Amino acid sequence: MDLTSKIIDGKAVAALVRKDVAAKAAEFEAWAGFPPGLSVVLVGDDPASQVYVRSKEKACQEVGFHSQVFRLPASTPQSELLALIDTLNKDPRVHGILVQFPLPEGFDQTAVINAIDPAKDVDGLHPLNAGRLASGLPGLVPCTPKGIMRLIQTTGVDLTGKTAVVIGRSNLVGKPIAAMLLAANATVTIAHSRTVDLPNVVRQADLVVAAVGRKELVRGDWLKPGAIVIDVGINRVEGKLYGDVAFAEALEVVSAITPVPGGVGPMTIAMLLENTLEAAFAIQEAKTNGHN
Ligand code: NAP
Repeated sequence: MDLTSKIIDGKAVAALVRKDVAAKAAEFEAWAGFPPGLSVVLVGDDPASQVYVRSKEKACQEVGFHSQVFRLPASTPQSELLALIDTLNKDPRVHGILVQFPLPEGFDQTAVINAIDPAKDVDGLHPLNAGRLASGLPGLVPCTPKGIMRLIQTTGVDLTGKTAVVIGRSNLVGKPIAAMLLAANATVTIAHSRTVDLPNVVRQADLVVAAVGRKELVRGDWLKPGAIVIDVGINRVEGKLYGDVAFAEALEVVSAITPVPGGVGPMTIAMLLENTLEAAFAIQEAKTNGHN
């Protein structure tokens, strides 16, 4: 069998999403008179964050969004950051607000998340949006898990009754993807650093989502033959990127797998664009209907 046919091409799926977002952004602009707007706030000079913010800015420009990046020094007082968020909350041309994490030491990340208007929370991290997802209600959801669901859809597999194991329990990836898989009728287990006999837990899974941040933690012989594997991990070792799954070993066993890079990563930015577009339509519609 051609092993490469098992590789889920996140770049290709993301390119289709971006094309669709660009078309709908033009429709939005024709209707509203101005484009969807995303404001990104970067505090400090973390090199990885700078790269992420630049690629978000470029992606916005490519689909015709208005994007603004606020670069603040690490010495900025928290009150000043909160005041900027307040200004952006009130700006009718801003539909999405993204504060790039991690924030430098000394900032209260929870207070910053809580300060963002939930209607503009395109990262889906505000407790109101997290609660909506947990309750099965519509709302803005975190970009990486949203992108993962889209990649799983491309396999054509119905998750109903399937056993899914999510490794990792962060608010950014593990918890929201578990909620989404549950909503898709999978039987979901969330594993983490205290899980006993992880290889055996993973061996039960028809679908594995690895969101850990440990280079090649998941080995080929942990996987059930025919499983679908989504590798979220980004582990930079000596300038090279590795996932949380030993890719070559896994490829022999699985029915489908995402590569690192080129799997989940491109989907995260594509979903950020989609969330911003959704927020733009929702905010503008509420305004048109006199709710705002
Ligand atoms: P995180 O907040 O550090 O969470 C990591 C999770 O892994 C925790 O729940 C932790 O368990 C668990 N864990 C750590 N060591 C483990 C082990 N040996 N066995 C089992 N579980 C273990 O990370 P995150 O933000 O969710 O991100 C996870 C990875 O995905 C990172 O590599 C990150 O760079 C990557 N990521 C990629 C994208 C993308 O767009 N591709 C987006 C977001 C994140 P405890 O809770 O018990 O500590």
